[in-house]
Amino acid sequence: MIFVLNCGSSSVKYRLFDGSSPLASGKVERIGEAGSPIADHEAALEQIARDLRLASLPLEAVGHRVVHGGARFRTPTVIDSDVIDEIRALIPLAPLHNPANLEGIELARRLRPDVPHVAVFDTSFHATLPAAAATYAFDRGLAARYGIRRYGFHGISFSYVARRTATLLDRPVDELNMIVLHLGNGASAAAIQGGRSVETSMGLTPLEGLVMGTRTGDIDPAVAFVLARQGGLSVDDIDALYQHECGLRGLCGDNDMRTVIQRVSAGDPHAQLALDVYCHRIRKYVGAYHAVLGRLDAIVFTAGIGENSADVRAQSLSGLLPMGIAVDPARNAAGRPERVISPDGTPVTAYVVPTDEERAIAEEITTLLAPSARRQVVSSTEKA
Ligand code: ADP
Repeated sequence: MIFVLNCGSSSVKYRLFDGSSPLASGKVERIGEAGSPIADHEAALEQIARDLRLASLPLEAVGHRVVHGGARFRTPTVIDSDVIDEIRALIPLAPLHNPANLEGIELARRLRPDVPHVAVFDTSFHATLPAAAATYAFDRGLAARYGIRRYGFHGISFSYVARRTATLLDRPVDELNMIVLHLGNGASAAAIQGGRSVETSMGLTPLEGLVMGTRTGDIDPAVAFVLARQGGLSVDDIDALYQHECGLRGLCGDNDMRTVIQRVSAGDPHAQLALDVYCHRIRKYVGAYHAVLGRLDAIVFTAGIGENSADVRAQSLSGLLPMGIAVDPARNAAGRPERVISPDGTPVTAYVVPTDEERAIAEEITTLLAPSARRQVVSSTEKA
């Protein structure tokens, strides 16, 4: 059995797998928020441990999602105290995510010190970015000193969805060029060539790129100078603004795409502009990534908005027939969760493919713990 823990800033998601079959799953939300019965991550984990009888489960390993693995972590890694120190050192690059991930790791190791704990990183999949895509046009010395480069995120999801799409196309992933659009509360795009990430929209941190629920995505860096010089805002004020008060919320007051679309139907102009900016940004990235890839075989929507919003999919890809991209209205509107949404015969097949980050983590760990790799893992666990 593998227990997978996805510890976010205000939520904990978990799944228990026996091989590839999920046995149990759950989510504790609103941790630490006013009026929530769950005060902190420790209380959330204790509740989960009680519900699942975690202490007595025949576990092989515990898997942890970790958002920022920096330049060091390119593959799933068995956690020891050095690994914990390195994840901690990356907190400045992921201040919202890595502290919660670390807390989950430390609590779960205390509950089950007898099994290997494995970190699976959102950045790892993008370790293949070519230098030209990963490098900012920035002072070389400062970039080296502070690790300033493009890392990319949502890699666990991108890698899972890319493999799943290849299966649906019944072709080897290493022959395919695809664009995957992960559109959740956080959102990013990836250009994937032969199963390897060659371009992605998030950068040093998960702030760059597409419009998100509350994050800016791409913005002229000089906006920060104006806010500081004319508005007197501090760096921390600007950081909080960019993270929590911009994106869809900044444009129209709502960050939930369902609400935005309801307001668009009711004729609300602010919600309409928010949706237009959101979809325009996606379309711009699709064009850019098509150019990066040259040939494009598939374009894939995933995560909460990508999987559920026919309006966003249709508007983002409208008018792209000259590039071989089209959406069939009936296929887009309804069908099985996993489906083709382009008309038959279009050069680029468009898909909806639900992501499953917990399953992807469990699969990575199963591979890592396969008999050939197991001896090495056990010895590094003993060392820790
Ligand atoms: P997270 O990044 O937190 O994992 P999700 O992948 O669950 O987020 O995506 C959350 C987003 O999905 C929210 O903005 C929500 O409004 C959106 N969403 C969920 N269902 C729908 C729907 N039916 N139509 C439009 N948006 C939806």
